[in-house]
Amino acid sequence: MRQSAELQLKPASAKAIKNGYPLVLKDALEKPGVLPKEGNLLRLTDSTGNYVATGYYGLQNKGIGWVLTRSEKEEIDSRFFAGKIRKAIAERHHLYAAEDTTAFRMFNGEGDGIGGLIIDFYADFYVVNWYSEGIYSFRKEVYEALKEVAAPRGIYEKLRFDTNGQYVEQDDYVSGERGEFPLIVQENGMSFAVDLNDGAMTGIFLDQREVRKALRDKYADGKTVLNTFSYTGAFSIAAVLGGATETTSVDLAKRSRPKTIEQFAVNGIDFEAQDIKVMDVFDYFSYAARHGLKFDVVVLDPPSFARTKKKTFSTAKDYPKLLKDTLKITSDRGMIIASTNNASFNMKKFKSFIDKAFTETNTRYKILEEHQLPEDFKVPHNYPEFNYLKVVFIKIMN
Ligand code: SAH
Repeated sequence: MRQSAELQLKPASAKAIKNGYPLVLKDALEKPGVLPKEGNLLRLTDSTGNYVATGYYGLQNKGIGWVLTRSEKEEIDSRFFAGKIRKAIAERHHLYAAEDTTAFRMFNGEGDGIGGLIIDFYADFYVVNWYSEGIYSFRKEVYEALKEVAAPRGIYEKLRFDTNGQYVEQDDYVSGERGEFPLIVQENGMSFAVDLNDGAMTGIFLDQREVRKALRDKYADGKTVLNTFSYTGAFSIAAVLGGATETTSVDLAKRSRPKTIEQFAVNGIDFEAQDIKVMDVFDYFSYAARHGLKFDVVVLDPPSFARTKKKTFSTAKDYPKLLKDTLKITSDRGMIIASTNNASFNMKKFKSFIDKAFTETNTRYKILEEHQLPEDFKVPHNYPEFNYLKVVFIKIMN
């Protein structure tokens, strides 16, 4: 029998959770002293002891757990998980039905009703991401439910809790068929090679699907494209397939080069006609400026924080400077696709960074498109703070 603990919420937290807020914050408790164990069920009450919600205890970033239901009688068993997964699948039926897309997010944590649990679909294989020991303690129930509802070809998993929330290096295979990697998935008709058993990342960030499509369909034709922080080069693939005359992909990680070559190859693109640079983007900016290089389209997709030998970079602090450096190597009437997944600031703030950089360099601009998470990355209704992705297509008007 799973242990259960009763926790009393402060009035403001009780109200927020009643209204649909899904996270139990560290400072939400009236008496923070007595804490339960990872995976314990939580009976959350208000200051008068009345039931508010049932959750589970699991430490993750700024939270100590997530709400699972606001109905006191609901049991948290494999039927509960099956119900949530069934609903998530039904809401994505058009993605399941789409012939030209075989990779997407099937279950997005709190947006689908279970914080700490994320499940991605890759050509009938599923990758389950566990964000706390607490949610991982429901492993048996969740896998039972997933097998019953989704009939997976095979299941892989990523443990993202450990000591510092870092990915735990392991064999990620769980059950079913073992995949042969690279596995080739489709996204709006583009091919991407993924490996579900090679560390924390699979080779593609699924949340940028609509951005890649927009780049390919509307902005790449006849253009030179610089893809910074390029990882496996997914934006470069989209650019070439959209008619870009040349792409340059820049990433510090040595393995980005073979991975990018692989992505070009599975799309039938001659990688030798494309430029792939393994180097620090900040060094590349100086190199390009020195050589008078200019690009029609520049994709900027830095990690929220990056530390190299020489410096540390944080998007919350350094994005305006990054844009200013980018402007020096962007053509007149060119375009910058500026992206960030830093959850600590919102779209309004991000646009203020953009405005600062352009105003301080006397550059006129027009925002052509804005993107946040695509619909399969469901976020809780009324809580935009869970919508971490922000992408702005900025046209230079000088
Ligand atoms: N734009 C990519 C995802 C970027 S992930 C895509 O759409 O798939 C962030 C990448 O930034 C990682 O591959 C990491 O190796 C790279 N990176 C981090 N700091 C860097 C730096 N200073 N210079 C170049 N690449 C960097």
